[in-house]
Amino acid sequence: MSMIEFLKRVRNYFFPKLASTDTNTEKMINLILFGPPGSGKGTQAVKLVEKYDLLHISTGDLFRYEIGNNTPLGLEAKSYMNKGELVPDEVTIGMLENKVNANPDVNGYIFDGFPRTENQAEALDKFLASKGEEVTALIALDVDDDEIVKRLLERGKTSGRKDDSNEEVIRKRIKVYNDTTAVVYNYYDEKEKSQRIAGKGTIEEIFGRISESISKLNV
Ligand code: AMP
Repeated sequence: MSMIEFLKRVRNYFFPKLASTDTNTEKMINLILFGPPGSGKGTQAVKLVEKYDLLHISTGDLFRYEIGNNTPLGLEAKSYMNKGELVPDEVTIGMLENKVNANPDVNGYIFDGFPRTENQAEALDKFLASKGEEVTALIALDVDDDEIVKRLLERGKTSGRKDDSNEEVIRKRIKVYNDTTAVVYNYYDEKEKSQRIAGKGTIEEIFGRISESISKLNV
C-alpha cells in the first residue's frame, strides 16, 4: 500500500464523510484499440491488459459468446456477422454498456472493435461522461487491405470463424470499415485523442510503438 493510500485509509476511518471526496480523483485509462479487421487489435489488447491491468472488452467476442450460448441476442447478431455487416447500434451499445456496468472496479477499459460507427462513439462518450470518465485515447493500427485479406484467410484456417474463411465476406468487412467505421478516427482526432500506429512488423515491434504512444499520454 502506498503512503498516500495509507493516509487516506486513516483519514477515512476517523472522518468517514470525507471518503466520498475521493470519488473519481483517480482517472481511468480508457483506450479504444482501432483498426480494420485483422489489424491485430485482439493480439495487442492481450498484451496491453498485461501491462496496464485494464479490462479488455471486444464486442466481437461478446457476440460470439452469445452465439455460442444460442441466446436471442446471439441469434440476431449471427445473421449480420456471417454477412460481414454491422450488428445494429441499439443492440451493440446496450451490450457494451452492460459489460462495463458489470465491471466497475477496474483501472480502465480497452475497447476492441467498438465504437464502429459515429453514433456508437457518441453513445460511448455520453455513457462514460455519466460516470465521470472519458475516452483517454484512440490508437489506430494501420494495415493495408491486401495484407488484411491475407491475414484473415490465414486466421480462418484455425479460428473457426465463418466470417474469416470467405474472401467475399472479408472484402465486405473491409468495405464496411472504410465506409462506416473509419470516421470514428476523425471523430476522436477532432478531440485530439487519435493516434496512428504502423501495424506492420512483429507483435513485439507493434506493441513497442503502442506502449510508446501510451507513455506520452497525460495519464
Ligand atoms: P470483430 O471480432 O471485431 O472482427 O467483429 C466481428 C463481427 O461482429 C463484425 O463484423 C460485426 O458483424 C460484429 N461487431 C463487432 N463489433 C461490432 C460493433 N461495435 N458494431 C456492430 N457490429 C459489431
